[in-house]
Amino acid sequence: MGPQPLPWREATDPWPDCYCGQQGCIETLLSGPGLAAEHKARTGRSLSAAQIALAAAQGNSACIATLERWHHRLARALAHVINLLDPDVIVLGGGLSRVASTYEAVPTLWGRWVFSGGLKDPVRTALRPSVHGDASGVRGAAWLWRP
Ligand SMILES: [Zn+2]
Repeated sequence: MGPQPLPWREATDPWPDCYCGQQGCIETLLSGPGLAAEHKARTGRSLSAAQIALAAAQGNSACIATLERWHHRLARALAHVINLLDPDVIVLGGGLSRVASTYEAVPTLWGRWVFSGGLKDPVRTALRPSVHGDASGVRGAAWLWRP
């Protein structure tokens, strides 16, 4: 997604400087280091994104909350993509694409920012992790991060 600001910014969003010279870029906010930095700012604890994801899966409430905030930001970023491109499927790559809860949580969140959303016209875009060698037949896919 690169140098684009996170859409529908909220007061509680971190808005870090990005290497590109801007602030609040999607790539920086939604990266593993971005997740870890936000967790540290909130809790004072230094954990990697993988450690946060593991602890959340094991029921750690602080890590669950961090992951929920990250899912909320990811849902806004992907809603922006859906509004622009209306893809059949969005494929997530990178280390955080292995966070299993993302594929249940984010599609329940993004409808509020998708203009075609709502009960009568639900979002049809699917959210999937990247799977090596299993991309045939995927049409209209949007690759967001380098695997
Ligand atoms: Zn940037």
